[in-house]
Amino acid sequence: MNTTTESPFRVSRSRRVERLVEGMPTQDGAGVKLVRVLTQDLQRRLDPFLMLDNFRSDDPGDYIAGFPDHPHRGFETVTYMLAGCMRHRDSVGNEGLINSGGVQWMTAGRGIIHSEMPEQQDGLMEGFQLWVNLPANLKMTTPGWRDIPGAQVPEVISAEGVRVRVIAGRAHGVTGAVPQGSVDPVFLDLHFDAPGSIDIELPPGHNAFAYVYRGSLRVGDGAVPQQRMAVLETRAEADGVSFRADAPARAVLIAGRPLNEPIAQYGPFVMNTHDELMQAVRDYQSGNFA
Ligand code: FE
Repeated sequence: MNTTTESPFRVSRSRRVERLVEGMPTQDGAGVKLVRVLTQDLQRRLDPFLMLDNFRSDDPGDYIAGFPDHPHRGFETVTYMLAGCMRHRDSVGNEGLINSGGVQWMTAGRGIIHSEMPEQQDGLMEGFQLWVNLPANLKMTTPGWRDIPGAQVPEVISAEGVRVRVIAGRAHGVTGAVPQGSVDPVFLDLHFDAPGSIDIELPPGHNAFAYVYRGSLRVGDGAVPQQRMAVLETRAEADGVSFRADAPARAVLIAGRPLNEPIAQYGPFVMNTHDELMQAVRDYQSGNFA
């Protein structure tokens, strides 16, 4: 673990909460129960992010069937496990195990077929899957994949004891585990084990949101209850966002530079045009993925 002492950052003007979004309970894969926090109607507003799912259950019936072989093209998937264990296998030949606190960052690019299956028969499984769009010139890039074990995710602890796990981007001078790409993503996991506050710097042009998955938080000037996503205003004069907890709480903060390109989605394919989607379906059906 890479815990570093904070070099303090204070916002001069915090982003404010634009709206609160309640996730939608749904099922995906072979019947895994989850909450879809970022749904398709928010893709433009939260460009470059396409989807955020939160799964949490200690009932194996909710997750044991997993996500058998399925394709992706045109974007990246980020899986962040809070509890439990998930095995990944793909058509490129990669295989890996994501454990508690670990991250998998997969670039589907021109096409990949993979499975994501629980590696446990019982106990709690909890985590997130985020979809990050790729710019037009990288949608057909070579598929890539990286596993970051929990122990290799850098952390910074503030003077008030707030722990920030830096999955991507930067926080208080600490650089995340995932190299910066075309949208310079920020993906932080904030742990308040006691009352406390912390300010986080964000590039002003990034679209950003926070999802509170334990307890409740004040984000900017707004109260955000448990299991709500706060869409944060994108404003040039705000240099970051402030968080305050009055009791133990946890949240992920996610931000990225918008691509401002057309978004065409058909299930697990996300391209710029309808024709490109049809091509993706043809390529998949004729076995032309990686
Ligand atoms: Fe997948």
